[in-house]
Amino acid sequence: MERRPFGKTGLDVSVLTLGTMRLLHGWDAPHDHLPDDSLESTHRIVSAALSAGINLIESARGYGKSERLLGAVLPQIGIPRAHYRIMTKAPPAPTAREMRQWIDDSLTRLGIDTIDLFALHGLNREEHLAALDVRNGVLTALRQAQDEGLIGAIGFSGHAAPPLLLRILATGHFDFVNLHYYRFRRANHAAVALAQALGMGVLIISPNDKGGRLYEPPEKLRTLCAPLHPAQFNERWLLAQSGIHTLSIGLSEPEQLPLHLEGLRATPAWGQDEQEIAWRLEAEESRSSLRDCGQNCFDCLPCPQGIEIPEILRMDHLIHCFDMAHFARYRYGMMRPGDHWVPGARLSCCDRCGACLPRCPRALPIPELLAGAQRRMDPG
Ligand code: SF4
Ligand code: SF4
Repeated sequence: MERRPFGKTGLDVSVLTLGTMRLLHGWDAPHDHLPDDSLESTHRIVSAALSAGINLIESARGYGKSERLLGAVLPQIGIPRAHYRIMTKAPPAPTAREMRQWIDDSLTRLGIDTIDLFALHGLNREEHLAALDVRNGVLTALRQAQDEGLIGAIGFSGHAAPPLLLRILATGHFDFVNLHYYRFRRANHAAVALAQALGMGVLIISPNDKGGRLYEPPEKLRTLCAPLHPAQFNERWLLAQSGIHTLSIGLSEPEQLPLHLEGLRATPAWGQDEQEIAWRLEAEESRSSLRDCGQNCFDCLPCPQGIEIPEILRMDHLIHCFDMAHFARYRYGMMRPGDHWVPGARLSCCDRCGACLPRCPRALPIPELLAGAQRRMDPG
């Protein structure tokens, strides 16, 4: 499998990363109980991934049993530790002392001496950015652990809106970033470009699930992406973009891996087939008045009710163009007011105050559009 230099981390990483958020029973409590079938399934997934040439495994303190399952399984697989890299993540802790404890916890759970890539998980709010400047705070703990050889390169995962994500990147504190960027969600284009300019490694989070539930594509999207599967097209589109190094594929069973391997077989990533698919997708989108919403326009924010108007209209655009209602309902179902992972109030909260209307450069009838989106995404 192709490997790419992961920015200034100094590591070469495979273009696919094994994400371990979806391991069998991985979220069941208690997290220190590892059922036999979880161990067996994790063993098969990790073995298949490493055998296929994947050399980066991604976990997180917050992924239930994931770190512990990896710690139990990796020594049994018989592949030397030097042949693969481990990335794990933890939220920004309130104090340096707690941050260090969480690093030590991850080392213990993973059963390793060094975490090659350690990321702050979810720098999504202003206070997370401010925490980076606290004397004797999270960065102090990370640098100390780095000096002691407990962690290698330091990065973060960011789920914030583009302006805040850009400011976090611009601090220059980090060697790599994990972010959301996909064919069907390009809002972080500038963040990828800035990360590239800063020499950072760029990992794409969940390209096929958060990128559009492309594992279960609607027939229209399948047809438009033929001869590729939509997930394969999305992956090839990403790998053809400048500045992107690896895509984290979250497997729940090893049988899901061949789709991705098959999709990578032809090189280079971008050729005549891909260009023709791109043209067909663009032709569908060109007819939609919502094509800029949540991609390169966010001007209608803020909504006093907390509705994430651009993101809602981006998803409604995907329904109109590609029949992606299953994805839109899934993402809308994850939205919570004030949440820092997937923020957004219910569409029923729109009181038609009209505050958004004068901000729209396309003069779109936003309350009416949201009412239509509500019928499609929240029919119950
Ligand atoms: S009209 Fe609705 S969507 Fe627009 S700002 Fe008011 S509450 Fe928000
Ligand atoms: S301002 Fe208009 S074009 Fe921009 S995201 Fe909002 S509704 Fe869409």
